[in-house]
Amino acid sequence: MSFKPSHNKTLSAISAKFPEQAEFNQAVSEVFSSLEPLLKKEPKYEKYNILERITNPERQIIFRVTWVDDNGVIRTNTGYRVQFSSAIGPYKGGLRFHPSVNLSIVKFLGFEQIFKNSLTGLAIGGGKGGSDFDPKGKSDGEIMRFCQAFMNELFKHIGATKDVPAGDIGVGGREIGFLYGKYKQLTNLYEGVLTGKGLNWGGSLARTEATGYGSVYFAQNILEKYRLGFEGKVCTVSGAGNVAIYTIEKLLHIGALPVTCSDSFGMIYDENGIDVHALKEIKEVKKTSLKEYLKYRPQAVYTPLSEYPKGRNLIWSIPCFAAFPSATQNELNLEDIKELHKNGCKLVNEGANMPSTLDAIAYMLENKIFFGPAKAANAGGVATSQLEMSQNAGMTSWSFAEVDSKLKGIMKHIFDLSYETSREFDDDGNIMLGANIAGFRKVADSMIEQGIL
Ligand code: NDP
Repeated sequence: MSFKPSHNKTLSAISAKFPEQAEFNQAVSEVFSSLEPLLKKEPKYEKYNILERITNPERQIIFRVTWVDDNGVIRTNTGYRVQFSSAIGPYKGGLRFHPSVNLSIVKFLGFEQIFKNSLTGLAIGGGKGGSDFDPKGKSDGEIMRFCQAFMNELFKHIGATKDVPAGDIGVGGREIGFLYGKYKQLTNLYEGVLTGKGLNWGGSLARTEATGYGSVYFAQNILEKYRLGFEGKVCTVSGAGNVAIYTIEKLLHIGALPVTCSDSFGMIYDENGIDVHALKEIKEVKKTSLKEYLKYRPQAVYTPLSEYPKGRNLIWSIPCFAAFPSATQNELNLEDIKELHKNGCKLVNEGANMPSTLDAIAYMLENKIFFGPAKAANAGGVATSQLEMSQNAGMTSWSFAEVDSKLKGIMKHIFDLSYETSREFDDDGNIMLGANIAGFRKVADSMIEQGIL
């Protein structure tokens, strides 16, 4: 398996034009590193200038969000929606509320989303949005007023067949509720304009679980190909949010032993296996620090972020069979992967978006560590969002088992497509290469067929 850094002229033009957009440059570089063999085989992509077109979002909306906090102080944040590609369906992708959000982060996420959505086999284009608003420490009233102010502008640009946002970091069921209520009031439409909705008002069973469960299904597909399994295997998971919680839950269901989780302040190591009920209560109900976990399981070890070695994520120094980075971008670097490898790690499966740095990915491929890349491994969330859209459009709702079984089928489809595409390009088992080429090819061919736009 190989990793060839791209020296493409479009990539050079992007880094010259947007030198400050480090995350966007990184995401483009990762995709382009896989495309060389396809571009060589199919000159039409160059002829139609697809690389330049596909890296330019169709539309970028940046807006002011003004709201009033509990003390009557008027606050202002910046809102974003980047509608990247509608080549194969309406724009689809989450909203992130986190102080680190800027145009580079939204563009990297939106760009990845194009290919992820394409891989699902469903008719969804790519987009992403969010705000630099920090939900931490805010009351429910403040969250509601912020969401309403955000939707006051966003509603002009979205719609059930136009652009359908969902959650991401800092945006869960509560925020989707406030956003949906405001959209409905502003437009007088009751339509599937957001996914991740509450079950009483148009949500889909298994959407909450979908990204984490899907990530584990994807990892199972990789292991099955090599006649391996998860039974009794120690796994490390980072994050303690939506993706991490349901990754841990599914790992427990299939007999693996997830021993870690983490939040913005520190990590838990519980060698007996994470107590997922305690984790849900701490993060989904109380919405507080992971340190609370020690009240439920005093034998566990909590290490605050301040005690991590400089430039390292302590989670990746815990020996494991498989690692599931499920918190945020660039949380697993070259030093981390070397240590994981030294300690016998066989698989890295990305639950988060772009959690591994480019040099960490290169190391994995060179050292034959099984690698489930984000745009394939975590596509279960958006795929189930599309199932929610289908149920809304058909005014129906499916059982948990039905949605879960469709999710399993979609994750298998993504794995098979990525694996077979890697074989087509003589890079057997390089799932990243296969996923990037397969995701790109469908969108690029659609762009060519639809004319020069
Ligand atoms: P949540 O907000 O539910 O959880 C994020 C978790 O990661 C929290 O535990 C948070 O800590 C922690 N975290 C966030 N930022 C940082 C940081 N800079 N340093 C350390 N820890 C951090 O988000 P999700 O679980 O939804 O998303 C996690 C990742 O998965 C993201 O990369 C997202 O883009 C990706 N993803 C999510 C999908 C979904 O369906 N939700 C679908 C596909 C990908 P704290 O608890 O302190 O806030």
